[in-house]
Amino acid sequence: MTPPTPLIAGNWKMNGTGQALVEARAIAAAATDAGVRLALCPPATLLERMSREVAGTKLEVGGQDCHAEASGAFTGDVSAEMLAEAGAQLVILGHSERRAGYGETDAAVAAKASAALRAGLEPIICVGETRAEREEGRALAVVTGQIRGSLPAELAGKAFTVAYEPVWAIGTGLTPTLEDITEVHHAIRATLMDMFGEAGAAPAILYGGSVKPGNAAEILALPEVGGALVGGASLKAADFLAIVAGAPKA
Ligand code: PEP
Repeated sequence: MTPPTPLIAGNWKMNGTGQALVEARAIAAAATDAGVRLALCPPATLLERMSREVAGTKLEVGGQDCHAEASGAFTGDVSAEMLAEAGAQLVILGHSERRAGYGETDAAVAAKASAALRAGLEPIICVGETRAEREEGRALAVVTGQIRGSLPAELAGKAFTVAYEPVWAIGTGLTPTLEDITEVHHAIRATLMDMFGEAGAAPAILYGGSVKPGNAAEILALPEVGGALVGGASLKAADFLAIVAGAPKA
């Protein structure tokens, strides 16, 4: 099976008003190389405008979360169908800021992944251990457990992506050793193959957590690292594009 096309996705989190669209336009203008997929996941309020402004370019647009239901009495939530109508092609699910801050369980993430498929969105499902879990030697068990719990069976054969994001590396400037990243990515791939058979070879496995222009190339060159999920460094086109420049082309 051919290796998945690398994906570099930016997570703007709760950052960005209309003025920030200038960064998306600059990224879209540079997104011409078919060897790497590029995506930005802005706040829901910017999704429709961003999708319109980058329409016709290679920059994909995604949401940062969705509700499991298509509609209903869920004040403040946004459904996968709403994201798709606003122009999203992807959606980040199970980010550690949502698992920790909003008590999202693996089962809740799996239900959201099913909702994303229902709406025609490609889920980017995030997993990752805390600092304490790594220090206790439980990183592999935690991450593979999250994979088994957060990925519904119906993902088999569908387009989806996994992002390994150690909680302690997000927004801290800290990153695991290259050996540790490789070890976890291999364990994720083995788990995907066990769950989905040959189809488990297809999804890209992204690394996320303090990816910057200065460390991107060495991380992106690792075996089984199929791209990056980038937080802070995705807010400025120059930083994001410098990260993209370090990606090996498919
Ligand atoms: C993230 O929020 O997914 C992330 C990886 O953030 P940062 O790149 O800022 O560590």
